[in-house]
Amino acid sequence: MIEKLLVLQDRDQRRLALESQLRAVPRDIAAVEQKIAAGQSAREAAHGELLQLEVKKKAIENEIGSAAERQARYKSQQLQVRKNDEYQALGVEIAHTQSEIETLEEEELRVMYAIDEAKQKLAAAGEELQRTTSGHEARIGALRERETSLQSELQQAQEAVAAARSLLDEPVRRLYDRLATKPGLPVVVAIQEGKCGGCHLKISSNVDSERRKADQLVTCDQCGRIVYGEP
Ligand SMILES: [Zn+2]
Repeated sequence: MIEKLLVLQDRDQRRLALESQLRAVPRDIAAVEQKIAAGQSAREAAHGELLQLEVKKKAIENEIGSAAERQARYKSQQLQVRKNDEYQALGVEIAHTQSEIETLEEEELRVMYAIDEAKQKLAAAGEELQRTTSGHEARIGALRERETSLQSELQQAQEAVAAARSLLDEPVRRLYDRLATKPGLPVVVAIQEGKCGGCHLKISSNVDSERRKADQLVTCDQCGRIVYGEP
């Protein structure tokens, strides 16, 4: 009887281990997918930064263009005025727009350097993504294969459990199931040095003498587990 129970317990433990390994697979896949997503969003961020800088450069160019137009207008007006003070006033405007244009050109240069940097950053992010994605995808593929093989192992384990269960009498099966739910496996434990292998408390002399009689199941009076061993 104990042997049959030990076989069932052994197979049940294997089934539980496979179930827990199977539960871990989707979590592992999600973690890898998260890494892929992080790489993609890093590249998107770099791309967004580059686009923003290009928009800024275009705006500066427009400002330079309109300042140059104003300056050209002042210059042609200057050619037409007769009065000296008007001529000088336009000269001030021309000089003012000139310094405006120079400031804008300096800023444009800074944006152009930033664009070069952003392009390098984007290329690096793209390379990183390409380099890591194939590894990540291979990992996901391996995890899916593992999931499939675990599923078939689990099915075999479940069949083995059913076979072991069919060899037990109904009351024994019920006792086992009740104990397997609470306190949980292992529920068939050896007595070692007079102590229960589950709760590690001393087996009472009553239980000890009971289990020496014939082939009957005895449970620990502390934790309720089925105890055996030490003839
Ligand atoms: Zn016990």
